[in-house]
Amino acid sequence: MAAPNPYVSAQKHVDRVGKMLGLDESVIELLKKPRRELGVNFPVRMDDGSMRIFTGYRVQHSSVRGPCKGGIRYHPNVSLDEVRALAMWMTWKCAVVGIPYGGAKGGVICSPKEMSKGELERLTRRFTSEISIIIGPHEDIPAPDVYTDSQTMAWIMDTYSMSVGHSVPGVVTGKPIEIGGSAGREEATSRGVMYVAEEAARRKGLKMAGATVAVQGFGNVGWHAARLLHGEAGCKIIAVSDSSGGIYNAQGMEPEKIMQHKKKTGSVKGFKGAKDISNEEVLELQCDLLVPAALENVITKENAPKIKAKIIVEGANGPTTPEADEILFKKGIMLIPDILANAGGVTVSYFEWVQDLQFFFWTNDQIKERLKEIMTKAFERVFEHANGSKVDMRTGAYMVALKDVARAFELRGVFP
Ligand code: NAD
Repeated sequence: MAAPNPYVSAQKHVDRVGKMLGLDESVIELLKKPRRELGVNFPVRMDDGSMRIFTGYRVQHSSVRGPCKGGIRYHPNVSLDEVRALAMWMTWKCAVVGIPYGGAKGGVICSPKEMSKGELERLTRRFTSEISIIIGPHEDIPAPDVYTDSQTMAWIMDTYSMSVGHSVPGVVTGKPIEIGGSAGREEATSRGVMYVAEEAARRKGLKMAGATVAVQGFGNVGWHAARLLHGEAGCKIIAVSDSSGGIYNAQGMEPEKIMQHKKKTGSVKGFKGAKDISNEEVLELQCDLLVPAALENVITKENAPKIKAKIIVEGANGPTTPEADEILFKKGIMLIPDILANAGGVTVSYFEWVQDLQFFFWTNDQIKERLKEIMTKAFERVFEHANGSKVDMRTGAYMVALKDVARAFELRGVFP
């Protein structure tokens, strides 16, 4: 069966929640479509002297609440509809945490794993030049996404700066610290996951110290989430997994030691004292907190009835299908949706941008304190909306986001 078109799914959420909120049909129509789309085809000189033509996109969904913000991904499966959906997602994410941005996303169709560093640099610099007519520190601020990283951001920042004749660190976030990056950016998404998990546990009357946790995915988000939930919140990490499979130990495991083992062997499997289990089993374990932090569509109508976690915190984007949402809600499992749960990343990106615009940098403690305040407040608002309307937290989050974007639009009015 073909995967659902992400743009169509994203539009369905807007239709459903827009109608619940009683928004005007024309406003719903506006929110369902990106404001601006740029498609580019451009040449890159390859290492063997040949020239290849690449296709890329930058889509700006909304700039009603502020400049557009969103990552750039390099992947062979990038499509215009995927970029549109991801751009829309960013609009809701920024609104849920109340940071003054609209959503955007970009992508280039390419296979970065098969390209040299030099080819990736030339591709990045040419793509930056192509989209420089719509990006800028006050217009649209890219960030890393799938297969782009702080080095990619450094090239974008340099290319843009060369074209205007002076350094413009605020044109991208997720940069290396040495050229205007922020403290705390790497672990920001996972730290946000921990803060909202703490809020959810409090509402459920569950103690974080000793709470059992299963984490799917041991990459950036999963690893830092396991590390922080264990080291700062005192949780017991009973299972983790990566693309090769999962490991389980009911007594709890130390994430640092799992990471050492993964660095040595290439996977989490075979970790001393733990039992190897399958990826499916990780999701279905008896635990207090389940953190999907790997892929989309992993919690479906097939496995949702078997999930025993009390709280699910979506570290990944889109891990739960709409059918599974319904089943989990009926079972009384509290699910903290991606547009709230993993918004810590874009929040610290916002901090980076603010610091870049002021050329004045904050300490890691200041970052943590401000992130906690924003995530906690956002959780409370979503929780109140969900409880007040007796709907799940995802619907509550969409209610908050759509309400704020629609209100901003109403206040600004229609030009001319
Ligand atoms: P990553 O590439 O660093 O890590 C992904 C992890 O998932 C890897 O450990 C990989 O082995 C594992 N994985 C792959 N297939 C798997 C499978 N079938 N079962 C279990 N594990 C599997 O990526 P990341 O940056 O950690 O991102 C993970 C998710 O979080 C993505 O959905 C991403 O969009 C989302 N996200 C990331 C950030 C961020 O700041 N990095 C912010 C918001 C959302």
